[in-house]
Amino acid sequence: MAEQSRVVLVTGGSKGIGRTIAESFRDAGYSVAATYRSGGVPDGVLGVVCDITDQGQVDQAFETIEAELGPVEIVVANAGVTKDTLLMRMSDEDWNTVIDTNLTGTFRVVRRASRAMMRARFGRVILISSVVGLLGSAGQINYASSKSALVGMARSLARELGSRNVTANVIAPGFIETDMTAVLDEATISDYTKRIPAGRLGSVDDVAQAALFLAGDHAGYISGAVLPVDGGLGMGH
Ligand code: NDP
Repeated sequence: MAEQSRVVLVTGGSKGIGRTIAESFRDAGYSVAATYRSGGVPDGVLGVVCDITDQGQVDQAFETIEAELGPVEIVVANAGVTKDTLLMRMSDEDWNTVIDTNLTGTFRVVRRASRAMMRARFGRVILISSVVGLLGSAGQINYASSKSALVGMARSLARELGSRNVTANVIAPGFIETDMTAVLDEATISDYTKRIPAGRLGSVDDVAQAALFLAGDHAGYISGAVLPVDGGLGMGH
């Protein structure tokens, strides 16, 4: 099958990085589905309502996509949340919400996606982690823990499914301008910018281009990799 006609699922396609990833795959000619909880998805993308903390909704989303577009061949697990606060103030709820969304939610999605990928003997799993998963971040113990765990998940997937022509890789974005980072104050943003060798914050398009690359047929021998898209912020990973 021509790579550009493959079926792609992007979780969290309503805004930010996920929305731009969905648009970029659509513009490249892929058949794209994206999940959303609120808002909607870009034109030309199949929108499926799905909260990834609910396995029933994940299963239903896959059934809809399979009926409308066919089996998912490329999954970009992008949906994620933050609930930042210092360790001593972090409640069980702050911890559980972030782990249940970023880590267990991703697990629910890739577990469901792996079935058809194994059958097709083709698959691309792309997990959106974060530079802080490996760098650490004060006030983000829940978030950093969830994001570093995605590296173990991708590498285990790469080992389990590699012989079926399924690759699993991680993108570790740095500081990308979206709603998630819009809540940060000027001083924090300026402090980050000084530490980024590229001297600028990243754009959603910077991340989308990396996802397109990893999804392509020419990336078939790249698996278990962590690809930083961070202007050099996390060098030494
Ligand atoms: P946004 O807050 O702009 O978007 C988050 C997306 O995730 C939304 O589409 C949201 O859907 C979806 N989402 C959240 N919770 C759930 C859930 N339970 N079920 C389904 N969808 C959910 O964030 P970004 O675009 O900035 O971030 C996207 C990913 O990139 C995240 O995983 C984030 O951790 C990661 N990242 C972001 C960085 C940044 O600097 N912005 C840096 C490094 C990593 P809805 O709005 O419909 O609820």
